[in-house]
Amino acid sequence: MRKLISTAFALLLLLLPLSAQKTAQHYTVIVSLDGFRWDYPTMYETPNLDRMAHEGVKAVMLPSYPASTFPNHYTIATGLVPDHNGIINNSFWDVKNKRQYSMGDSATRNNPDYYLGEPIWITAQKQGVKTGNIYWVGSDIAIKGTYPTYHKVWAEKPFLTFEQRIDSAIVWLQKPEEERPRLVMLYFEEPDGSGHHNGPRSPETGAVVHRMDSLMGVLRAKIESLPFGENVNLIVTSDHGMVEISPERVVNMNRYLKPEWCEMIDGRTPTSIFSKAGYRDSIYNVLKKVEHISVWKKEEIPAELNYGSSDRIGDIVVAPELGWQFTDVARSTKGAHGYFPQSPEMQVMFRAVESDFKKGYTAKGFVNVDIYPLLSYLLQIVPEKTDGQFERVKETLEIKR
Ligand code: AMP
Ligand code: ZN
Ligand code: ZN
Repeated sequence: MRKLISTAFALLLLLLPLSAQKTAQHYTVIVSLDGFRWDYPTMYETPNLDRMAHEGVKAVMLPSYPASTFPNHYTIATGLVPDHNGIINNSFWDVKNKRQYSMGDSATRNNPDYYLGEPIWITAQKQGVKTGNIYWVGSDIAIKGTYPTYHKVWAEKPFLTFEQRIDSAIVWLQKPEEERPRLVMLYFEEPDGSGHHNGPRSPETGAVVHRMDSLMGVLRAKIESLPFGENVNLIVTSDHGMVEISPERVVNMNRYLKPEWCEMIDGRTPTSIFSKAGYRDSIYNVLKKVEHISVWKKEEIPAELNYGSSDRIGDIVVAPELGWQFTDVARSTKGAHGYFPQSPEMQVMFRAVESDFKKGYTAKGFVNVDIYPLLSYLLQIVPEKTDGQFERVKETLEIKR
């Protein structure tokens, strides 16, 4: 009996440090506000994001090319540039299967074969870390046969309101410790919608930016009211910026391209052209003389764009100048994105608060591929090899663990 008691006591002693460690567990909530340009807080009233900057870290983050929604959310999730993560644009020609992938077409969007690399939720779960996810690109798709531990399906009704998304995240964080996700990813489709419709500089977009800021205030307050609130890192960021477009700044592709030259023309900003055998030079030579666009043979694309190795990219790529469109059907909206990450209008807001981040710190800036190594650090997991560099984001952290 005495032996039993002493064994039990020894076991208890062994377990104690473990449970003590567990109570100091850190959590991370990362939010994407689609199309939140880095300078909206200087253009509009954003008291909650300003408070986050004051109490935590602020930075201007570069998107990856092209500055569009699907490529960049999946880049943030995987740490791989679109050229390496498979989602090279919101839509593209799948040359292998002779089929069009489009984010708006659920049959192709939900096909895991398109999604390369490993999203952070899989890396985390392989290492025993639970995750929760609302509408982040890829999270409702069976990539490598798995989903985040908790997730919501984009195409399923009811489609959650912004408030319901916040409440669902909080419900997950209130689960018993063993079931609680240590990483929660939340997606909101504004201010992108308004930025397209009304342009980035408009009272309507200002009002939506203000609303999103208020929601971030609500989220933060709810996180802070959790018993372990001070151990929850909150990151608010975005996929790309937004720039004014105009019917005056359109290059009509039909004026230059002959249908018999092209196998397929796809994607806007940039446009991928799959040329028919023998016509590559005809296409290239005619477009080379056109103003307001850059045209490259796939292998000539400037290295800083990290674009051109995927077989989903055409053998000729056409990129319009900032605010211009190369198209057959010009957009009727006032704002667009998809341009070079080096254009300030395409860059995004980054805010991060709580225990692992510095206080009142303005970072030099980094690229969205760096978020995957950042999250891996915050979750204390071993990252996969990616295009990201922890060294570039390290300066945002108060390294004390
Ligand atoms: P963009 O054309 O690049 O402005 O795309 C923005 C749009 O992407 C949003 O308005 C949503 O309709 C769509 N979207 C964002 N996330 C998802 C998702 N997880 N699943 C399906 N569609 C999405
Ligand atoms: Zn977007
Ligand atoms: Zn958009």
